[in-house]
Amino acid sequence: MAGFYVHLPFCTKRCLYCDFFSTTLLPRRAAYVDALLQEIAERKKELKDPIKTIYLGGGTPSLMDSIDIFRILRTIGTDDAEEITMEMNPGDANPRYLQEIRQCGVNRLSIGIQSFRDDLLQLIGRRHNAMQAIDAVHMAQEAGFDNISIDLMYALPSQRMATWKADIEMALHLGVQHISSYGLMYEEGTALTKKKEQGELEVVDEETENKMYDYLCKRLKQAGFVHYEVSNFALPGFESKHNSSYWDGTPYIGAGAGAHSYLPPVRSWNINDLKAYIKGVQRGNLKRGQEVLTENDQYNEQVMLGLRTAKGCMLSPSVDRRLTVGNYIQSGLLREEEDGRIVATQKGLHVLNRIIEDLMI
Ligand code: SF4
Repeated sequence: MAGFYVHLPFCTKRCLYCDFFSTTLLPRRAAYVDALLQEIAERKKELKDPIKTIYLGGGTPSLMDSIDIFRILRTIGTDDAEEITMEMNPGDANPRYLQEIRQCGVNRLSIGIQSFRDDLLQLIGRRHNAMQAIDAVHMAQEAGFDNISIDLMYALPSQRMATWKADIEMALHLGVQHISSYGLMYEEGTALTKKKEQGELEVVDEETENKMYDYLCKRLKQAGFVHYEVSNFALPGFESKHNSSYWDGTPYIGAGAGAHSYLPPVRSWNINDLKAYIKGVQRGNLKRGQEVLTENDQYNEQVMLGLRTAKGCMLSPSVDRRLTVGNYIQSGLLREEEDGRIVATQKGLHVLNRIIEDLMI
């Protein structure tokens, strides 16, 4: 089994917290798609296994014409694909567009809702409002999508526990199958971080952020969702196949500016500059960085990614099980399954980065 990721980096404006590779140069879309199709056609031969999952991520893929989505998917080849996800901004949803992308083969939507509060959405610079978010989910359901994921953010500036609880209830009320939820990160150099440094924001403290996360986990579990990765929750059977393949080391190709690929043991990444990417493909000398993962690197990745999931990971015999792992188990941060896999507990998820560092070799 293999995966295919396509990066569609266009956005109409930058969200204030964003540090992803994205661009507002919308007029470059046509040239970008031409380059993308060329890269896909050339590189898909590198995959030996059938492509089971495809993910159209961004940026804002829903800013692309449906005909471009069709051309991209046709070039990748969807015959073996079980899951084809496309990210969508709520403001771009309309019945016709949703029908068209469904006809192209998209069978899973990931809608970037983030919050159902207009004041919070404005504060982080999103271009949609709460009503558009609700409408987007309804329209997608009416268009026949029965595998819908939404993104929700917590620890937004001035967010209260009560408003966070209301956001979760709204998500449940909408009847989506999957929820990805992330605490806001103040990344270096973003407009939001500057506002924070200038004292313009009411920042949520760590204790409240942890409480928001714990509440999320508890409430979604109560509602029947499986907490299958630190930030991901799904009704049984609706876990993202594509994302799960990242966590278990499945080979994948990432096409487009800034996209990463993994063909074990080689990880590579395209240049994250729109103009340089298009020129590189056209001239046949696309710049790609790469690293060959040693056995240790692969083990460390397995720990880093596996411990974020409900499946956990196997540890190398060279890790001091008695001291390091034993201490964590005794403190209730890790538990050991019957087959020897190590899994993080809810308490452990709060200090996961520290645990992971200790378990790496
Ligand atoms: S829509 Fe996504 S990629 Fe685009 S600016 Fe906002 S957070 Fe960044």
